[in-house]
Amino acid sequence: MKTLIQNNLVRNFVAGKWQEGDDNASIAVEDPATGETITYCALASDKSLNDALKGARSCFESGDLQNLGPLGKAALLRNIAIEIRKIADEGAELLCRESGKALNDAKAEFIQAASYFDYYSGIADKIEGKSIPLGSGYVDYTVLEPYGVSAQIVPWNFPVSIAARSLAPALAAGNSVIIKSPELDPLGIAALGIALERAGTPKGSVSILNGIGSDLGAKLVASKGIDQIVFTGSVPTGQAILKSAANEVVPALMELGGKSAGIVYADADIDEVLESVKWGIFFNAGQVCSALSRLLVCRERYDEVIERCVELAEGLSVGHGLKNPDLTPVISETQLSEIEAKIVRANVDGATIATGGQRLQREGYFMAPTILYNVTPGSEIAQEEIFGPVLCIIPFDSHEEAIEIANDTEFGLVAGVFTKNLSIAHKSASALRAGQVFINEWYAGGILTPFGGVGKSGFGREKGVEAFYNYVRTKNIAIKL
Ligand code: NAD
Repeated sequence: MKTLIQNNLVRNFVAGKWQEGDDNASIAVEDPATGETITYCALASDKSLNDALKGARSCFESGDLQNLGPLGKAALLRNIAIEIRKIADEGAELLCRESGKALNDAKAEFIQAASYFDYYSGIADKIEGKSIPLGSGYVDYTVLEPYGVSAQIVPWNFPVSIAARSLAPALAAGNSVIIKSPELDPLGIAALGIALERAGTPKGSVSILNGIGSDLGAKLVASKGIDQIVFTGSVPTGQAILKSAANEVVPALMELGGKSAGIVYADADIDEVLESVKWGIFFNAGQVCSALSRLLVCRERYDEVIERCVELAEGLSVGHGLKNPDLTPVISETQLSEIEAKIVRANVDGATIATGGQRLQREGYFMAPTILYNVTPGSEIAQEEIFGPVLCIIPFDSHEEAIEIANDTEFGLVAGVFTKNLSIAHKSASALRAGQVFINEWYAGGILTPFGGVGKSGFGREKGVEAFYNYVRTKNIAIKL
């Protein structure tokens, strides 16, 4: 990807052109496994932002994307998927090095990104309104229209797949999109820009800007030229963005954090639980919004599950993402120090550290896989997102108590149930306050299934057909004959 990094600098993709910011500002992009600088990233200037806004508006008004027609848009999305697959190996290496994640997982992110474009290509030519019978003398119908310019702010934990998750349906609907990439790992999304360019995406329909959240991100969401905001990230940032959205009365989609619980009933298959724990809290070093961060275990199986989780944690391989270990580093020194500080406070609050509890003594930002028990449900560690490989195990004595503990946080992103009893599974799924419930396999589902939260986990849904309707609005046309 020759065009991506030039003179040791990754540039912005502004209305079809790769450019540096005018003020030559840049930030270093680090390898979290070593702490070394990989390259530098040019920060978008105010002029780049204005150019992206103008380009997006002009593409939307001229109809360069919409005029491709339903079949043409579907074909464009399929081309984008093809181009993403072509760059997946090269892009994955960059993503692995800048985010610390395992190379195979980075590759899977690009493949998933391509799948989003394939999936939403299937809807680009099936955007249909309704006819509403008003009685004699009238004809009434609805049209689903794109919003216009969609501003999309992406977090660092799955930058490529999350960017694609919102971009693909937005383009299928005919919107122009301006993406603000995460400042900690902007290279993967920049690689996505190359695929978009090669696929012949109309100029201005997508811009990718690099910048600091509190600066460029805040300016983008406060801009007058946007018609929609899509935000994936933390609750405090979401709250700040909602204030900007309120000022301009712009609709916003919020995909925020979580503190999700899995309930282990007495009849659960503990091997299945362990497999879910492995993925649920140690995949991507636990930096997953829908991580399995609280495991609620019935008293009869409590000691056994703690012992098995410790064995699992202590047996994980650790290393640079390029070697595909089980456990990779967290994204930054700041993130690592915050996790360690939370564990110190959890200890003061009475939690017992069964294993881990501090950073690993090696280069890079590696947190030891950590299992905590004797965790009080109301304590900070059981209430706040940690975003690291840290599992809290909490016992319960009845179904009612399990549901009460599971629902007792401000979040409500996902939840899980482990049981062979279908009746208990359904009863629990219905009582759990969450946007999605996994039964017997954490992360069951995928790009076809609607995803989003309740409470402080946000609102709106991404993924699946349902997500598409976030990117269109209904116009009703009533005709008197
Ligand atoms: P963050 O809120 O710090 O940053 C997210 C993005 O917002 C970044 O691109 C950042 O630059 C930008 N940003 C920061 N301040 C901004 C501002 N004032 N205005 C506009 N943009 C701003 O979150 P993070 O640390 O990058 O990501 C981790 C968080 O994201 C976790 O809380 C995690 O649970 C959540 N997340 C949620 C989902 C989901 O789908 N629900 C998916 C992934 C991550």
